[in-house]
Amino acid sequence: MDREGFWLEAKRRRNHVLLWIPAWLVVGLVLVALFKAILPSDKLSLAPMLALAVWFGIFMYLRERIVSMRCYRCGERAFAQIWFPLNVSKCKHCGAANET
Ligand SMILES: [Zn+2]
Repeated sequence: MDREGFWLEAKRRRNHVLLWIPAWLVVGLVLVALFKAILPSDKLSLAPMLALAVWFGIFMYLRERIVSMRCYRCGERAFAQIWFPLNVSKCKHCGAANET
């Protein structure tokens, strides 16, 4: 991946995570309704928990797509950190930055 492509991809993946957080308001409702439709009547109270688990699983997948990105210059994980990286403008290993 070249320099320009790397930064475009980093921002694209970061935006997916940022969009996925408020998407809970819609996705959560849909998932709760879905689980309520398929769960047996004595287990309906599990629906919100299952919906949240699915949403969170996808969140973690989207997060992994950012933190697994390897820097175009040094080859290290450019944005590796415990939570998800909001700031994707600089490689934390070699300092390669997006100047555009
Ligand atoms: Zn780097």
